[in-house]
Amino acid sequence: MGGLDDLYQELILDHYRRRRNEGALDRPSVAVDHSNPLCGDEIHLEILVEDGRVARVGHTGQGCSISQAAASMMSEAVTGLPLQDALDLVEHFRLVMHGSEPGDEERLGDAIALEGVAKYPVRVKCALLAWMALKDAIETYRRSTN
Ligand code: ZN
Repeated sequence: MGGLDDLYQELILDHYRRRRNEGALDRPSVAVDHSNPLCGDEIHLEILVEDGRVARVGHTGQGCSISQAAASMMSEAVTGLPLQDALDLVEHFRLVMHGSEPGDEERLGDAIALEGVAKYPVRVKCALLAWMALKDAIETYRRSTN
């Protein structure tokens, strides 16, 4: 397991240094701001919804490597998904972070690297920040279009 953890650690640092989908979108359908005061993590998340799918994700923020890498990983995992599938994936990730479900690498992609964070309760909020922001963004979008 030691080698696997090292690999995951590298993946987290890679996403932290080269954040995928970082930045603002031209015409976001919805934008939300979330923070994790325990650690000082902040995220501004924007999504573009097209044809009932998460067409694009943009994020900016600051904070620890786990929180920012998680935003990058989440953006890759959910881009292209129907809204309900994206919400289901958020719930799956939440259960993984609480140690209630094993991570599904096929659905999580690189975010599987965060599975080990579940062992460190104080960091779980860091890993969850971007995912909870996504959930909020999708629910806000749904309310605005109903
Ligand atoms: Zn943090």
